[in-house]
Amino acid sequence: MSASPITATIPLDAPGIHHGFLRLPHSRDDSAWGSVMIPIAVVKGGEGPTALLTGANHGDEYEGPIALQSLLHGLDPSRVTGRLIVVPYMNLPAFRAARRVSPVDGVNLNRAFPGDPRGTVTQKIAHFFDTVLVPQADLVVDLHSGGRTLDFLPMACAHELDDAAHEARCLAAARAFDAPWTLVLREIDAVGMYDSAVEARGKTFVSTELGGGGTATAASVAIARRGVERVLVHAGVIAGTLEAPRTRLLRMPDGDCYHFAPEAGLFEPLVDLGAQVAAGDPLARIWAPDRTGAAPVTVTARRAGLFVARHAPGLIQLGDCLAVLAVPKG
Ligand code: CA
Repeated sequence: MSASPITATIPLDAPGIHHGFLRLPHSRDDSAWGSVMIPIAVVKGGEGPTALLTGANHGDEYEGPIALQSLLHGLDPSRVTGRLIVVPYMNLPAFRAARRVSPVDGVNLNRAFPGDPRGTVTQKIAHFFDTVLVPQADLVVDLHSGGRTLDFLPMACAHELDDAAHEARCLAAARAFDAPWTLVLREIDAVGMYDSAVEARGKTFVSTELGGGGTATAASVAIARRGVERVLVHAGVIAGTLEAPRTRLLRMPDGDCYHFAPEAGLFEPLVDLGAQVAAGDPLARIWAPDRTGAAPVTVTARRAGLFVARHAPGLIQLGDCLAVLAVPKG
């Protein structure tokens, strides 16, 4: 496969703090020899491990970008014992458009891995991360939230992996983030995810879901900022001491954790995030969007669990993810 067309405007391995860009050539109507300029910062303080930190993999999720800008702005470089590579706006065109997917090519970066150096803008970003940045990292942290259409209890996430030692390493890092909840996540659709690409390289990987609805709150940003600091200390990238995590572990034992909308219409939640529900409990009703007099459709819990994620907008479409349940694990 050919080399990436993306070049960094700063060295990726020089001591000190460097702020620059990943320059991606993008020839288009309004700029014949133009570029997509993705901000990147590298902080190298010693020969310790490398952490690669990203936000805005989906462009409508804000806790990650805020926490990473804040980290870089407030960082005392003498605390850095390894190297930080920080990309707060991983899918910059999507972030600038406040959209989940890129307006340039309609591609979801988190379904575009391993990417293509001869592909679209988003495919080129994926390929650069997969072949240039991820191989240099020991720890990869990708900060997500629910975006405009989902809302989550604040959690760090890890996956079940074939290699038990690798899974334990990822789960330990997710727990060290110490969000209120830590979820071992069962993906609906893992093909093409950044997560899968990073895990395939054996790297320690942590993702998060820190809120949603297309905005951030003071509480969710505080969780992100503290979690990033903690996971960097845990990994030996910055100096510091850690109190033991207090996070509560959740698992998703089966596909019944997911609930999808059986109708389109007006979405009425009947329970809120954080509720513990029993199998058969009503979760939501969907009202006809175009007439009065019709009974609503009630969606009930397919299993017992904690209500960890929900559809965010007031209108819902057939097949939208309506609710996600997870099960506390000791
Ligand atoms: Ca996301």
